[in-house]
Amino acid sequence: MKKLLILGAGYGGLAVAQRLDALARGKSQWEVTLLDQRDYHLIQVRVHEVAANSIPAEKVKVPFSELLEGNKVTLVQAQAERIEPQAKRVHTSTGILDYDQLVIALGSVTDYHNIPGLEEFAFGMKTLEDAIDYRLAVIEAFDTVSNSDEPVLDSDPRLTFIIVGGGLTGTELAAEMVDFCKELAKHYRIERKAYRIVLLDSGEHILSQLSPTDGEYVRQELRYSGVRIFTKTFIERVEANAVYIKGNKMIHSNVICWTGGIKAPPILEESGFDVGPSGRIPVDAYLRSPQYQNVFAIGDNALIKDRRNGSIIPQTGQYAERQGECVAEQLWEDDCGIKPHRYVPFSMGMAVSLGRDEALALSGPIRLTGIPGRLAKNASYDNYEWTIRRRPRLLTTR
Ligand SMILES: Cc1cc2nc3c(=O)[nH]c(=O)nc-3n(C[C@H](O)[C@H](O)[C@H](O)COP(=O)(O)OP(=O)(O)OC[C@H]3O[C@@H](n4cnc5c(N)ncnc54)[C@H](O)[C@@H]3O)c2cc1C
Repeated sequence: MKKLLILGAGYGGLAVAQRLDALARGKSQWEVTLLDQRDYHLIQVRVHEVAANSIPAEKVKVPFSELLEGNKVTLVQAQAERIEPQAKRVHTSTGILDYDQLVIALGSVTDYHNIPGLEEFAFGMKTLEDAIDYRLAVIEAFDTVSNSDEPVLDSDPRLTFIIVGGGLTGTELAAEMVDFCKELAKHYRIERKAYRIVLLDSGEHILSQLSPTDGEYVRQELRYSGVRIFTKTFIERVEANAVYIKGNKMIHSNVICWTGGIKAPPILEESGFDVGPSGRIPVDAYLRSPQYQNVFAIGDNALIKDRRNGSIIPQTGQYAERQGECVAEQLWEDDCGIKPHRYVPFSMGMAVSLGRDEALALSGPIRLTGIPGRLAKNASYDNYEWTIRRRPRLLTTR
């Protein structure tokens, strides 16, 4: 049996293991090992909802034991520490794993861009721990103010929640924070004018990937909900209770969240892979490293150019999942003596949550807003969970 080692059981890695298992129907030529540092699959696309108390933490944790039941996959819970591509082995926190074929799907980490004080004083929004810490800090802020003898000011610095980074994560977090703060203000009997949610971005617009009409719609909705948006705003330094902005400006805040950047984990470059922007491995049309043809990189770890228009494929869950499936299909095709097919990027669209009950959902010509948009966004979450729970059984019955 040939050894397939998959590093990371997130959106991409899990899809490789499940899809290959389903295609092979117990007749795989691969002995599959799936390695992850956690014992659960993180529904990462909903982490900000935990941060804003919209959903409980349990909702984004799916134990691997529930997902891999009946699969011929060995799950190893350990930290990948170093890859030796020439020796075809990976050093982990629990020992060395050999492979014939490697899939790197380790996701990304927060990139603080060397901005002084940012890593120390701002919350990230990548992991479940980030979300829980942030949620506690927001609750604590309201609690402290309500138990303090100091007068509560309008836009009180103690209740100023700054989110830096107007991409999808930052924008959705700001929108969900509107509902969370409303709830807390009611509970602690604090007036609306005492707290504020501020969204900062260095670009011309937040959510620059949207069309001008859709971008404007999102901005209007957020402003209507009371989120203050400042674009073309560059953070120079962060301290425990303030953000310093280029142009000698400063905003006081005790709860600052950074959603302004991600990068591939350092293990890729440290292991000798040539990396491109954000530490990602540039891959060929088959998602393989040009340096090592027995190494695939997918999801947030891969730098993929769309051959049709030269654009770089975004780092999102839906692309990672499809890339994982594509790798599994290629391995299976190769086993069957069929020429493996190339990866062709495909997007199902996108949905931007605008609070607990609203979203903008876009898919081809379909554009939904408000409650229908939110229902569509929730349906995409349900569909993903359904897929990862059913993928093996559904496909093996074919
Ligand atoms: C708050 C938030 C909201 C988002 N919203 C959306 C959205 O609406 N739509 C969308 O498509 N995308 C969204 N994304 C992006 C999406 O979550 C990622 O692009 C996607 O998870 C990438 O998949 P992946 O398989 O590359 O990595 P991941 O899903 O991150 O999986 C990586 C896995 O590797 C494991 N791992 C990492 N390092 C190690 C190590 N050294 N050793 C062992 N295991 C390790 C991790 O535990 C994890 O399980 C969002 C991301 C965030 C943070």
